[in-house]
Amino acid sequence: MGDAHRFRTTRCPHCGYPMDVASNADASKEAPVPGDYSVCLSCGAFLRFGSRLRLSRLTKQQLEDMPADMLLELGRIRAAVLLAHKTIGPVGDEKGHL
Ligand SMILES: [Zn+2]
Repeated sequence: MGDAHRFRTTRCPHCGYPMDVASNADASKEAPVPGDYSVCLSCGAFLRFGSRLRLSRLTKQQLEDMPADMLLELGRIRAAVLLAHKTIGPVGDEKGHL
């Protein structure tokens, strides 16, 4: 996992979970940029950074156009998030927020 990068708080458009930090799934130290993909640590939704690093839902077309290796990587991260919820419990308070 790469270095953690902080950014202005944005909420998951699916569940409202606030996010203000991200790191690359690989060892890269690069900060997120618009167009990068992400996964919500609360609900496991696939997301994409937009302008000013606001997170947005993926459109059906974006999912269809996503390279297979990226889709597999996001799927692995989503599986890890959901497995963590089953073993250590949900992230945040009872509303899913920090
Ligand atoms: Zn979410």
